[in-house]
Amino acid sequence: MDKSQGRLAAVPAASETLAPAATHSGHRGLMLEEPLIFEQGVPGRIGVDVPAAPAAKSRLGSFKRKAPIGLPCLSEPQVVRHFTRLSQKNYGIDSGLFALGSCTMKHNPRLNEKMARLPGFADIHPLQPVQTVQGALELIDELARWLKTLTGMPAVAMSPAAGAHGELCGMVAIWSAIQAKGEGATRTRVLVPESAHGTNPATAALLGFTVDPIPADARGRVDLAAFEKKLGPDVAAIMLTNPNTCGLFENDIRKIADLIHAAGGYFYCDGANYNAIAGRVRPADLGVDAMHINLHKTFSTPHGGGGPGSGPVVLSALLAPYAPLPYVVHGANGFALVETATGAAKPFGRLKAFNGQMGMFVRALAYMLSHGADGIRQASTDAVLNANYILARLRDVMSPAFDGGPCMHEALFDDTFLKDTGISTLDFAKAMIDEGYHPMTMYFPLVVHGAMLVEPTESESKESLDAFIDTLRYLAIEARKPGAAVWFQAAPRLTPRRRLDETRAARAPVLRWKPPVKTAQAAE
Ligand SMILES: *Cc1c(COP(=O)(O)O)cnc(C)c1O
Repeated sequence: MDKSQGRLAAVPAASETLAPAATHSGHRGLMLEEPLIFEQGVPGRIGVDVPAAPAAKSRLGSFKRKAPIGLPCLSEPQVVRHFTRLSQKNYGIDSGLFALGSCTMKHNPRLNEKMARLPGFADIHPLQPVQTVQGALELIDELARWLKTLTGMPAVAMSPAAGAHGELCGMVAIWSAIQAKGEGATRTRVLVPESAHGTNPATAALLGFTVDPIPADARGRVDLAAFEKKLGPDVAAIMLTNPNTCGLFENDIRKIADLIHAAGGYFYCDGANYNAIAGRVRPADLGVDAMHINLHKTFSTPHGGGGPGSGPVVLSALLAPYAPLPYVVHGANGFALVETATGAAKPFGRLKAFNGQMGMFVRALAYMLSHGADGIRQASTDAVLNANYILARLRDVMSPAFDGGPCMHEALFDDTFLKDTGISTLDFAKAMIDEGYHPMTMYFPLVVHGAMLVEPTESESKESLDAFIDTLRYLAIEARKPGAAVWFQAAPRLTPRRRLDETRAARAPVLRWKPPVKTAQAAE
């Protein structure tokens, strides 16, 4: 018997589970409630006793602050507890399996962090004379060499700060090449598969291209016939993700590349899913003209929460001349940064004030060197194996979106298995939170109804995958029992906050704390 069956019986009756367990203190177990840090402040309280600064003549003139800044006054333990509690409310890859598909939430080796903190990398300034930062420039150059070797591409622009920024870089290079050929006025359409990440059509639209969607076929791949029909002299490029956002390899990718090239267009590849094929397939051999690589996905390095990403873009020989400034070169006097165009190069400009995300470069190269070329290949292989293990073990209780064979590094399910239960993908995801799992990516890609996209990555062990699978099997089986909807719709029941009004939070965000008006004053 499935170990998960009948566990629902042990859960209190629905009427009880719907009411949040109230406590006198407001805390729930060791999950502590606290007021906002501003509400905790007491005027005059101080954590550090510093002597008053000697009086000096102010040079601020009219810019001098007229009222106190309004920071909360707190003791040191209050500050420490506040930020420690905040950190504990955050679920991250260091707390448990983080199944978000498309995001590649994998373990970030601590070795990378140690390297990134070396003073020679961490404490330098981009405006330092290049003779004093030779090691840092060499590191950028070495990382570029790895990226070019792995992808088989002749050039790489290192400065883009994230995947979407890399898309912008690659598409501006394509736009520049089109302008140079005098086709700027005619090549105005960019083909984007319907399953694409939202940043692809956004990038094309930002540059003034018309976005033309290509439908997916029944196998979850680009509909080749529909694609061919859309080709014409006004097509600038196709923006294609491979493996695509359904977690599947685009089997016709060589044909797609040949067709777009024959039509005079360029092949932009969204390389965010490169972690499925790194070390196994070289994008150059697939006919790619430009591809961004999310260092913060494929090559570990932390991301999320708006932290620094890094999205170097590899470029074909045709696009390389348009690569943005600056770039690192090696000459007779060591490494140098090219800041102005020379020779055949026609850089389209700069993308960023300086040279890219140095901390991410160090982490990514540390990841590469510690794995070695064989290790990178192994990581891709294991990521694909783990996703297929999940797909295979959940196939009978959940519904694979495309059941035509194995997947790449992500397993995609639709909501067919929830049909007629009254339970939605959202309810299912909320129930996962009660079970201690961050939900997978939901409702993306849009081409799949009620999508659930699971990406385990290579860094999960078999035991951790089995525990995750066991929980999903339990929930999927429970969901089909009569009356389960009430229970699922009440989830999450065990979190500090239950269902939030996400629409209101997005539409009417409260971003600024204002001190409460004192009632005595208000009455006056
Ligand atoms: C993550 C991702 C992007 C965007 O990358 P950012 O670094 O978040 O800007 C683009 N396409 C796909 C398929 C992605 O998964």
